[in-house]
Amino acid sequence: MSISMIRKKIEYKKVIINSETYRVGDSVKINERKDDCLYAEILSFWQDGLKPDAYAKVRWYFKPSEIFEEIPDFISAAELMTSNVEQNITVQSIYDRVTVLNLSDYHENDLVDDNIMFSRSLYDPRLKVLRPPLSQWKRVCVCESILNPDEVYVGCDGCFGFFHPECVIAPDDKEYICDKCSKAQKN
Ligand SMILES: [Zn+2]
Ligand SMILES: [Zn+2]
Repeated sequence: MSISMIRKKIEYKKVIINSETYRVGDSVKINERKDDCLYAEILSFWQDGLKPDAYAKVRWYFKPSEIFEEIPDFISAAELMTSNVEQNITVQSIYDRVTVLNLSDYHENDLVDDNIMFSRSLYDPRLKVLRPPLSQWKRVCVCESILNPDEVYVGCDGCFGFFHPECVIAPDDKEYICDKCSKAQKN
């Protein structure tokens, strides 16, 4: 006859790792592979009542290098893709916190900080598709290229659109009005 143990799953709202407090909902860096960090959002912390190991259930972010064979020009160095892929990891592999903003908040944010990232899409690794697809990503300038917040743009004071300085006539003062807006002003 076997003795069946009563297993008790204990959940935590926060854990302290190397004197840093991490909470459910935080986005974090995870060190699972050598010389390569992974990113994930913490969904829960838990422990099997009879064992010492603590786990975090996470939802992975994908890095552009995991999705594109050759990374396109419009992909930012701070870009991550959300996903629906969940996994349990040991809490000891969590080592830093990151902030993942949406594209417009990231673009408006002038702070340069390696731990501030952004996401404008979700990657489905089973179907190998991005949602929304690239065809629906925000485009800018007269060249209609996909916005890359790492690039330098001049802003139109009329429509608040973004333009590559090299694509439009270099403004001689600080104010720039795009062709569409200056035509609309004349009419
Ligand atoms: Zn352009
Ligand atoms: Zn304009």
